[in-house]
Amino acid sequence: ETIGRALARAAASRGEREALVACEQDLRLTYAELLEAVDEVARGLLARGVGRGDRVGIWSPNRAEWTLVQYATARIGAILVTINPAYRSSELRYALDQSGCRTLIAARSFKSSDYVAILAEVRDQLPELTDVVWLDDPSWQALLDGGRDQDPAAVERAGEPLTADDPINIQYTSGTTGFPKGATLTHRNILGNGYLVGNGCRYGEQDRICVPVPFYHCFGMVMGNLAALAHGACVVIPAQAFDPAATLRAAAAERCTSLYGVPTMFIAMLADPSFDEHDLSTLRTGIMAGSPCPAEVMRQVIDRMHMGEVTICYGMTETSPVSTQTAADDPLEQRVGTVGRVHPHVEVKVVDPATGETVPRGETGELCTRGYSVMRGYWNDPGKTAEAIDGDGWMHTGDLATIDEQGYLRIVGRSKDMIIRGGENVYPREIEEFLYTHPDVADVQVIGVPDERFGEEIMAWVIPRAGVALDGERIREFCRGTIAHYKVPRYVHVTDEFPMTVTGKVQKYLMREQAIEQLG
Ligand code: ATP
Ligand code: MG
Repeated sequence: ETIGRALARAAASRGEREALVACEQDLRLTYAELLEAVDEVARGLLARGVGRGDRVGIWSPNRAEWTLVQYATARIGAILVTINPAYRSSELRYALDQSGCRTLIAARSFKSSDYVAILAEVRDQLPELTDVVWLDDPSWQALLDGGRDQDPAAVERAGEPLTADDPINIQYTSGTTGFPKGATLTHRNILGNGYLVGNGCRYGEQDRICVPVPFYHCFGMVMGNLAALAHGACVVIPAQAFDPAATLRAAAAERCTSLYGVPTMFIAMLADPSFDEHDLSTLRTGIMAGSPCPAEVMRQVIDRMHMGEVTICYGMTETSPVSTQTAADDPLEQRVGTVGRVHPHVEVKVVDPATGETVPRGETGELCTRGYSVMRGYWNDPGKTAEAIDGDGWMHTGDLATIDEQGYLRIVGRSKDMIIRGGENVYPREIEEFLYTHPDVADVQVIGVPDERFGEEIMAWVIPRAGVALDGERIREFCRGTIAHYKVPRYVHVTDEFPMTVTGKVQKYLMREQAIEQLG
């Protein structure tokens, strides 16, 4: 099944049911209307010469046109390159150039950034980019008008030769451990994952999914849009940018049954002054993903937001994204401490990174996954692809994990971040969690730095609470006698910020580079 044919089938079998609601734009589309609007865009793209395998970039926050472009490219077999709305000129240039985009569809601005000006800075370095269409601009209308003379059957014809294994999407990873890599995903990868994530949430036609998470990332595009398509459910877009009150208002007004977010979004919604004004009694489920969720937050999501069946997902861009998910009826303990069990049609194993041998159950090692969901490869980068996917099809995730007797997975950290000090494996997360308990520590990150004697030494970066002075000696004093001597940080760097990706993940590789420079 391709995404284009799935949409046509949904329009034929449940055309009158609502498919998409964009609250800020005051727009609602049924499945029949969605297909019609999608094919209008698809005809416009065909008229401009866009065809199978051509790359089309989308650089916009969440709005209805994003979804139209997603499905229009899928209908004709063009490859959608999803670009983070927070990107600035150098990241934008990299993504458009590396993927070889010929066409870009973009918002004119978002929050305080002027996208037109940002693109202008790098446009002359992008010779392959020949066609730019701006939303809220005559050029969008021109795209639609340009398709009017196309044969109405042209889109169907363009979709006929497509197979489920055609690439349909290039998504750049977050850039937490280095330069972002463009994962090339197929119809089978992402439609299959949307379907199975939807099964995990027990979706059906009656479900209405509130999606405040961004579409440029798999969380919005696959777990939101494609999960809804695969199950005939409806997607509700509260606003272009995440806003806790607008999200709660949309969930209540649209009688949503499901709500997505990363833990910090749920924390913001629960703390919003307007919280009690919204009737959230229609909520039943939702997805929490991206980082570990504190138990108290999970408890409140279940009790105060009525999301008794909320699930936790783990995954990565390269695996379309979800590999494991907690079940709707898992006890709270599993929904807080673990990332659930492996999805159907996906295999997992935990290996010793040094030998590649599977470790005994319960022990820590690198998580590997295999199955339909593993990407085709990194776009135009066979070297990096071969490093990530081995000859037997196993994706080496770079995440350290354990699997318990019942099959629940726990994520321990990233293998690149593991420190080997004098032959001992040290997991930064364990030291970080301990240092968080220091009353004067607001935030902390732990890294390994090269050392002649021990191979690596431990360094902590500490952000003190406002108004307090911290130094290395006080931190070491706090550790001594409470954690093993080889885990006590030899170096402590007091700072007021960590290097971060635009999506808010801490970039330890940059911290290591800086530390090595400082230590000389
Ligand atoms: P890059 O690959 O460019 O360094 P990235 O790995 O952060 O960046 P993504 O593909 O967006 O890019 O994120 C996937 C990673 O996020 C996983 O490999 C894992 O480390 C982390 N992750 C995802 N879900 C969870 C979760 N539920 N709990 C803990 N960590 C998670
Ligand atoms: Mg990664």
